[in-house]
Amino acid sequence: MSAVDQHNPSASHLPDKHGRFGDFGGRFVPETLTRALDELESEYESAKKDPDFQRQLDELLKSFVGRPSPIYHAKRLSEKAGGAQIWFKREDLNHTGAHKINNTLGQALLTIRMGKQRVIAETGAGQHGVATATACAHFGLPCVVYMGAEDVRRQKPNVFSMKLMGAEVCPVTSGSKTLRDAVNEAMRDWMASVENTHYIIGSVIGPHPFPMMVRDFQSVIGREARQQCLDVMQRLPDTVVACVGGGSNAAGMFYPFIEDSEVELVGVEAGGLSSAPGQNASPLTHGMPGVLHGSYSYVLQDEDGQTAPVHSVSAGLDYPGVGPEHSYWKDSGRVRYTECQDGQALEMFDTVARTEGILPALETSHAIAKAMEIAGEMDSHQVVLVCLSGRGDKDAAEIARLKGLEDPT
Ligand SMILES: *Cc1c(COP(=O)(O)O)cnc(C)c1O
Repeated sequence: MSAVDQHNPSASHLPDKHGRFGDFGGRFVPETLTRALDELESEYESAKKDPDFQRQLDELLKSFVGRPSPIYHAKRLSEKAGGAQIWFKREDLNHTGAHKINNTLGQALLTIRMGKQRVIAETGAGQHGVATATACAHFGLPCVVYMGAEDVRRQKPNVFSMKLMGAEVCPVTSGSKTLRDAVNEAMRDWMASVENTHYIIGSVIGPHPFPMMVRDFQSVIGREARQQCLDVMQRLPDTVVACVGGGSNAAGMFYPFIEDSEVELVGVEAGGLSSAPGQNASPLTHGMPGVLHGSYSYVLQDEDGQTAPVHSVSAGLDYPGVGPEHSYWKDSGRVRYTECQDGQALEMFDTVARTEGILPALETSHAIAKAMEIAGEMDSHQVVLVCLSGRGDKDAAEIARLKGLEDPT
């Protein structure tokens, strides 16, 4: 399996040459960025065909990240669900504790290939910030990470890790002080620094070629998982479930299964506190198509088309937009999108900890909660595969705060 697979027979053919997934995607950016995006696209296309690039990335994914990550049969959780067998794809076991590193290593290699000397990134939960800081430390690249001030508070351990690895963390105090504001600030930096700086976007969002490129780098998740299911169970899963913030772990998990029409794909958005405006982060469930951060996709917006405030207990899902390919999959009906509320995700965090001895990220807990519901309505010989996108140690302090306990960190 190569890290970026241009001949995957089960892959869909999109986006087109304009970066469109049907109506969605594209490139809505000021002219300043057009040349950098063209350069990135052509560099990526050439890297994809370059066996040296492939070899370097494969080697890093193996020796630095610890891939392949295993699939794991969550037997006690399956018993609790009382239906299908629940399996986890263990992205939490990757170096830095989540799927984000699959993408940052790929983009850091591209940064060097393009001859750029500086990296910037945005981060929500801090996982992408840590994964970017890690890749930059590995290659000796200076790194600046923009992070909403509210998230800096919620995700202290990750802020500390980034600084330890030599990254500069810039708290963003504008707007809601969360992920969307951090993306705005990173875009602003990039407009002024694009000659020598690469912006490592952390999800399948942003202008073309980012949604395609990040999906490709993350597709190692689904390629491995698909083969592992065939090896271990001699069959494909009946249902594959992943949480959707920007949508990168879900896109990476789903993409290699897209042409397996017998496999049901379910994306889980952050239902927050309720379906009321401002109380959730579910653009595919409650949003409308619009332009955010350089591409056309479902966005949570008010009556005037302004991006709406969002809420999720989990910093990594707290974003009003979503990757354009997910919007395409929603409208085409290939993927079913649903949502899970804060309370249910928090409860599932506890359940998985006690039942399986795994602390899942709060983001991931959304996916597991829905997977449990789905599995409960299936037969015991059926299989539900969940992308366990990351580990939950980073959330311990925030969970303690929500429970009124003492901060353990
Ligand atoms: C960042 C993150 C997410 C959400 O981002 P996607 O791009 O939707 O994958 C989900 N889970 C974990 C563990 C994360 O760190």
